[in-house]
Amino acid sequence: MKIHPIQTGFVRIKSAQVEGRGHSRIARQLAIFGDPNWTDWLPTYAWAIEHREGVVVVDTGQGAHLLETGNSYHPFARWEVMFRIDPEEEIGPQLRALGIGPRDVKKVVLTHLHMDHDGGLAHFPDCEILVAGGEIRTASGWAGRLRGYLPHRWPAWFSPTPLELAAEPFGPFARSRRLTRAGDVIAVATPGHTADHISILVQEDDTTLFLAGDASYDESLMLAGKVDGVSPDERTSSSTLNAIRGFAQAHPTVYLPTHDPQSATRLVNRSTVDTHERTVPQAVNLERGKRFGTMVG
Ligand SMILES: [Zn+2]
Repeated sequence: MKIHPIQTGFVRIKSAQVEGRGHSRIARQLAIFGDPNWTDWLPTYAWAIEHREGVVVVDTGQGAHLLETGNSYHPFARWEVMFRIDPEEEIGPQLRALGIGPRDVKKVVLTHLHMDHDGGLAHFPDCEILVAGGEIRTASGWAGRLRGYLPHRWPAWFSPTPLELAAEPFGPFARSRRLTRAGDVIAVATPGHTADHISILVQEDDTTLFLAGDASYDESLMLAGKVDGVSPDERTSSSTLNAIRGFAQAHPTVYLPTHDPQSATRLVNRSTVDTHERTVPQAVNLERGKRFGTMVG
């Protein structure tokens, strides 16, 4: 089994989104709008698992259409996030460069439906696309748009298969579902960043590759148990981060968040989580005093 990191451009967000401030949902959201500090440009990864049952794609990354969010009516999309991506950096062309055509892809599974995870959907018109049922409901329609999702950007044909996780614990994760007949690619519930967020675990010999989506923005934040600024419920996020840490303590785990600058290197080197290390979150270098960034093409 081969697994490819596919970097679909870069994103910048506010430091108060990476590490939440305050305890209520609204306080943490307001802190993002009041925060003048941007992160560095962070990568946005999607993943392609070359499995003998067919290629499984995890998340679809950014699309070049996200360069237009600066004109959005939604204040978060307009003011609180910046994207950088060229059309040839979208997932479709990158898969083709790896020799993976659209017909080779058996399944696409999304950790959640935020705009930098569903931005490459247009490249998969003929694939089965799996998304947690609750996430589809949260993201759809006008209510979804108000929550900051971009359902109006979904391809017209988009009709994902609701992925309902079974009440079947996998390690510390209460619900799970195996996505391959071999049972070596497993979706687990990692609620927090969104209420129905999932992560995808790939079992490789005795090591688990943990495709974490936005369960945390980087590994040190997971180890430190720092809840991000957009999680609707702080306690849910906290217990998911604890569960991930517990899992990594019990099994050699390569932890691979979507926006962690170290994810690709960690995958190549199969660097497992050192759960004894307690570092201060450091991935995010802040640029002070830059309140409203301009969109960068
Ligand atoms: Zn997200």
